[in-house]
Amino acid sequence: MSKGEVTVIGSGASSVHFARTALENGWSVVMLDVGRRKPAAVLPDADLNGLKTGLEDPARYFLGEDYGSLILPSDQDEYYGFPPNKAYIFDGIDDPPPRATGFKPLISFAEGGLAEAWTGGSYPFHDGELEGWPICFDDLSPAYDRVAQRIGITGEDDDLGKFYPRHAGLMPPLELDAHARLLLDRYSRKRELLNKRFGCYLGHARLAVLSRAHAGRPACDYLGRCLWGCPRGSLWVPSIGLEELRAQPGFTYVPGVTVRHFEVDDGGRVHRIVAVETSSGQERSFPVERLALGAGALMSAHILLASWLRAGKATPVLDGLMDNRQVLMPFVNLGMVASQFEAKSYQYHQLAFGLEGDTPFDYVHGLVTTLKTALIHPLVQSLPFDLLTSLRTFRDLHAALGLLNVNFPDTRRPNNTLSMEKLDDGGPPRLVVRYQPEPQEPKRIERVVRNFRRILRALGCLAPKKMTHLRPMGASVHYAGAVPMVETGGERTSTPTGRARAFENLWLIDGLTFPSLPAKNLTFTLMANATRIADLEFD
Ligand SMILES: Cc1cc2nc3c(=O)[nH]c(=O)nc-3n(C[C@H](O)[C@H](O)[C@H](O)COP(=O)(O)OP(=O)(O)OC[C@H]3O[C@@H](n4cnc5c(N)ncnc54)[C@H](O)[C@@H]3O)c2cc1C
Ligand code: SF4
Repeated sequence: MSKGEVTVIGSGASSVHFARTALENGWSVVMLDVGRRKPAAVLPDADLNGLKTGLEDPARYFLGEDYGSLILPSDQDEYYGFPPNKAYIFDGIDDPPPRATGFKPLISFAEGGLAEAWTGGSYPFHDGELEGWPICFDDLSPAYDRVAQRIGITGEDDDLGKFYPRHAGLMPPLELDAHARLLLDRYSRKRELLNKRFGCYLGHARLAVLSRAHAGRPACDYLGRCLWGCPRGSLWVPSIGLEELRAQPGFTYVPGVTVRHFEVDDGGRVHRIVAVETSSGQERSFPVERLALGAGALMSAHILLASWLRAGKATPVLDGLMDNRQVLMPFVNLGMVASQFEAKSYQYHQLAFGLEGDTPFDYVHGLVTTLKTALIHPLVQSLPFDLLTSLRTFRDLHAALGLLNVNFPDTRRPNNTLSMEKLDDGGPPRLVVRYQPEPQEPKRIERVVRNFRRILRALGCLAPKKMTHLRPMGASVHYAGAVPMVETGGERTSTPTGRARAFENLWLIDGLTFPSLPAKNLTFTLMANATRIADLEFD
C-alpha cells in the first residue's frame, strides 16, 4: 500500500530522480509536465556518415527546413548551434516569456527538460565547493552513488581525482580520439610544470555515457551522432528515466499541462494546483497532498512567485540567482594539422582541465572538445579569410581544432533577482530576470584566460586571442539560487532537506535551493540532491 501521494512538477533531471526515489520508498507519484515529445530517432543504427548517405534529404535533417540551424556571423560569435531535431526542446509556450536584463534565459518545456540537449558532463562537488551549504559531501555521497549506479557514469581516478570526490558506479572511460590522446600524452610529459606553475591538471571527463552495457542500455558504439541525440540511449537523458518511471506501478504521468500557480488553504498548506491544457488553453486543477516543484530553477521560481502574487503578496522578489560564466577558447593543435579527423568517436568533451584557485571554491573547470562532426560552420565563418580560403584552411585544420569551455563559479548576490510583472492584458504575469556580474569579474577572467592560453601553448596548441568569446550570462544554462537551503531563515529560504519555509507541504527539488554555484557542471548534483531530499523526506 502507498505511503501517500506526492505531485511532482516537471520531468527534468531533478524530477525523474526525485520521483524514482519516492516510488522506491513506497510513495505514489503524479507528475505534471508540459512535456513536449521528442521525434523518433531516424536510422538508429547508422553512424554519422551513414546518415548523410542514407537519408532522403540530409540537408533538411542537418540544417532544418529553412536552414534555421545555420549560425550567421551576426550572431555574436556563438560556436554552438542546436540541430533541427532538437528544436522541440526549446519550443516555448503561449504564456509570455521572461523579460531579462543582463541574462539570456534558456527554458525547456520538453519531456526530460534541458538535459535532453545536454553534453553529459557529470561532476560531484567536494566539501570545499559546498562551503556555505548546510550539508557536506557525506550527506550527498550516498545519493551520488545511487544516481551514478542508475544512469552509468564513465571516467577515471586520474589527476583530476583531486577535484572529483569518489563515488560508486564509475565505469571505465570512453575511448579517446587521436587528438585527445595527443593532448593527454603531452600533458603527461609537462605535468610537473603545469601542476606547479599553473595549478593545472588534465584528465578524463566524467560523462553520463555507457562504456559497457548497463540497465538494459547498450554501450556507446562511437556513432558520432551525439549532437543530434544518441539513438542508442548510451548517453543518458532524462526521458530514459521517465520511460522507466512510466513502467512502474504507482506512477502517473500527466503531460500537456502548463502549471500556472498553486493555491494555499487557511493553514498555509498547498491544496490545489491551477494549470492550463497546453493545446486548448482550458483551465484544469489538481488537488495536492504534497508538492515537489522541479520545473527548473527559473520556472519553479515563476510558479512560486505567481502563487505568492495570487495570494496578495506585494511585488515578491527573490534574489541570489546564479549561473556559471563561460568563456569559449577555440584552439589549433599543431601536432594534428593535416591529420584525418575521426568521425567515429564520442562528440562532446572527452577531457577536462582543473585549475586551482585561491580557495577550493575558486576552482575553474575547463571542458575540452576536440572537433569532429559537430556543426562546423560557426568556426569556419569566424576564420579571418574569405569563404574559399576558410574552407580550404578548415579542411587541413579540421582534426587539429579544439574548443576549451572555461567555467567559473558564482555566488548569491542581492542584485541578481527574479520577480513578477503583471501585464496590461490581464493574462498570466511575466517573470523578470535581472543579473549584474561582480565588478572584479573581468580581471579574474582575463587572468584565467591568459593562463589557459599559456597552458595550451605548453601542450602544443595555439588559441587565437581574437576567437576567444565571453558567453552571455545565462548561456551555460546552469541556473541556481534564489531560495537557498539554510539552517535557519525566512520564508524565502528552504530547510536543508529542500522544504520551502513558506509552505509546509512544498519541496523545492531543483537548483533553486543551491546556496552557491561551484564551477563544475551542476546536473549530477541536482539529481543527487533531489534523490537525497526524497530519501530523507519521503522515506
Ligand atoms: C546544450 C546544453 C548542454 C548542457 N550540458 C550539461 C552538462 O554537460 N552537464 C551538466 O551538468 N549540465 C548540462 N546542462 C544543464 C542541464 O541540462 C540542466 O542543469 C538540467 O537539465 C536542469 O534540470 P532540471 O530538472 O532542474 O530542469 P529542466 O531541465 O529545466 O526541466 C524542467 C521540466 O519542467 C517542466 N516545466 C517547466 N515549466 C513548467 C510548467 N509551468 N508546468 C509544467 N511543467 C513545466 C518542463 O517541461 C521540464 O520537463 C546543459 C544544458 C544545455 C541546454
Ligand atoms: S558516440 Fe554519441 S551518438 Fe554514438 S553511441 Fe556514443 S553517445 Fe551515442
